[in-house]
Amino acid sequence: MEQEVMTHLLEKLQERFTKKQLFENVPMSRYTTLHLGGPAQMLCEPATVEQLSHALASASELSVPVTILGNGSNMLVRDGGIRGLIIHLGDQFSEISDPVPLPDGRFALTAQSGATVQKLCNVAADNGLSGLEFAYGIPGTVGGAVCMNAGAYGGEMKDVVSVVTAMKPDGATVAYSNDELSMGYRQTYFTNEGAGEIITSVTVLLTPNDEETIRATMREFSARRREKQPLTVPSCGSTFKRPVGQFAGTLIDQCGLKGFRVGGASVSTMHAGFLVNDENGTAADYLALIGAVQGRVHELTGVMLEPEVRIVGEEAAVEQV
Ligand SMILES: Cc1cc2nc3c(=O)[nH]c(=O)nc-3n(C[C@H](O)[C@H](O)[C@H](O)COP(=O)(O)OP(=O)(O)OC[C@H]3O[C@@H](n4cnc5c(N)ncnc54)[C@H](O)[C@@H]3O)c2cc1C
Repeated sequence: MEQEVMTHLLEKLQERFTKKQLFENVPMSRYTTLHLGGPAQMLCEPATVEQLSHALASASELSVPVTILGNGSNMLVRDGGIRGLIIHLGDQFSEISDPVPLPDGRFALTAQSGATVQKLCNVAADNGLSGLEFAYGIPGTVGGAVCMNAGAYGGEMKDVVSVVTAMKPDGATVAYSNDELSMGYRQTYFTNEGAGEIITSVTVLLTPNDEETIRATMREFSARRREKQPLTVPSCGSTFKRPVGQFAGTLIDQCGLKGFRVGGASVSTMHAGFLVNDENGTAADYLALIGAVQGRVHELTGVMLEPEVRIVGEEAAVEQV
């Protein structure tokens, strides 16, 4: 966006945000688990629904595009960076309620969308509530996990989500029940027609169980991740969606692509479904690697792999504020 517009936006945001919540020209490598990508023109970190609503209204008034960011664990930002305003929902927006008992014996927990999945899993376990074990180890926020319908080890967010509250681009708040969210494999209302709406809180329904049993399952899933996944190198988890009836990692491995490299990015030698940024690659390296893997797998197996990672931002550098 033009500098004049962004300066105006900054002035408006400064009316409600502190200096510690507002950033200009921030490298997105700091905000994504892939550790790459160009700068965001402006980034704010709301701590309240009022601040979030002010940020949305200010951006809308000036026709500044808005991008929503959680923990950046499923985001690939192009090298040109992100034009406009990024709203980052993280630690400052991460309260979790006490469990509320329901007549059917279950308990409801409500989390603000910036809470990490890990934090919500721990609160559930601390209270002897079962249902989120599958999610232990998914490195996202609750908002990102609902948006993507994150899942693992036979479970997905769809199984536990009851109600989601969201803010529309015009600032209106709205509540959705599970069956209104079209939660499917790594897609939901929020990745489709509801893109642009911001998840503000999520209520999950959980069942009482013994805390040690819950913790044991979480520890087992954690150990399986450490054993099979390259958790110490920058990645976005599985780069591709699972093709129907197949596994992306197995197909990539069968095509002999483990270790295949483009610049600083490569196919993990530990798990071929993870494309990693192991040598300080650029987004261009990573995108070229995605393209090369797709091309080779398609040529040898006839399957066209579809990226799961959300690709955002500009190819050419955006104007700095
Ligand atoms: C090592 C590793 C392992 C992983 N394992 C798994 C796994 O087992 N299963 C799995 O499903 N995924 C996995 N992932 C991918 C990722 O963790 C999940 O997709 C996660 O749910 C993304 O959450 P996030 O907060 O990081 O979202 P981001 O990456 O910040 O954003 C992802 C998408 O959600 C949108 N979004 C984020 N917050 C909100 C909000 N509040 N309102 C509306 N939209 C929002 C963003 O705009 C974007 O489109 C893994 C990633 C890594 C790095």
